[in-house]
Order: sequence, then structure tokens, then C-alpha cells
Amino acid sequence: MNDRAPRPGSGTFWERGVRFECQGTGRCCTSRGAYGYVYITLEDRRRLAAHLGMRTSSFTRRHCKRDHEHVHLVNPKRDCCFLQDGQCSVYEARPTQCRTWPFWPENMKPLVWEHEIKAYCPGVGQGRLHSAAEIQAILTALEREDELP
Ligand code: SF4
Repeated sequence: MNDRAPRPGSGTFWERGVRFECQGTGRCCTSRGAYGYVYITLEDRRRLAAHLGMRTSSFTRRHCKRDHEHVHLVNPKRDCCFLQDGQCSVYEARPTQCRTWPFWPENMKPLVWEHEIKAYCPGVGQGRLHSAAEIQAILTALEREDELP
């Protein structure tokens, strides 16, 4: 019997890794229905507040809204409030959701990836190869975050 742990991503379409590099189009920052929210963690809020030279509480009051158990950015123009002239104005401090795109649990399903993500995001298939282990680590971290009370 082989009791070694399975390789990350074993049996998935991403088991050999996925090439991805942001092309800076800002497409993932524009509203598209169910994908329109930018959810942020407390750590994200602290990082963004520090980046903008604000207190975390002021940042939260000005830029965030609570939606049941999650907090998301308030986007008065429907697109992300930090998208300026097609570019992220807080790129170095951007939320985890933005840093981990497109490796989100809901995206890493073969049909969603093929018909929605690949078709939507020009960064897919470009640049650096993200290994299956790297993708698995992102997915695990995001799933843990989702379990937080
Ligand atoms: S914070 Fe920046 S990267 Fe994230 S959705 Fe807004 S503009 Fe895009």
C-alpha cells in the first residue's frame, strides 16, 4: 500500500501548474455581477489604511460595508473604488482577493476556468508558471479565511 500524500492538484486540470501574469487591463476590477464585490479581511484593511495614511477605523468607515458576515469595499461607481484610469491606485497594498486572482476556489473548476476565467482574463496562459503546490497553498489559505467567524 502506498501511504504517501497525493501530489497537490493531482487529477485536476492544474496539476502541472498554470501560467499567469497580470496584464494590467483592470478587467477583474470592473463590476461583473456576482463577481463585483471586493471582499477584504481585517489584515487587508490594516494594510490599505497604512498605505493611505489613515487609521484602520477611518478606512473601514469610508471604504467598507459589511454584508452579513463579510466586509467588502464600497464601490459607488460599481467598479472598484480604487480603480483609476484603468489602473489600481493601491496596487502595492491591494486586498488578498486581488493578489490571489485567478486562483480562487470557485474559479478552479474545469468548466468555470475554461468558459469564464480563461475567456475573461488575458493574464491566463501568460508569464510565470505557478506550480500546483503554490496554487494549492493559495486555495487552502482562502478556504481557511472563508471559515473564519
Ligand atoms: S483594489 Fe485594486 S486590484 Fe483590487 S479590485 Fe480594486 S483596483 Fe482592482
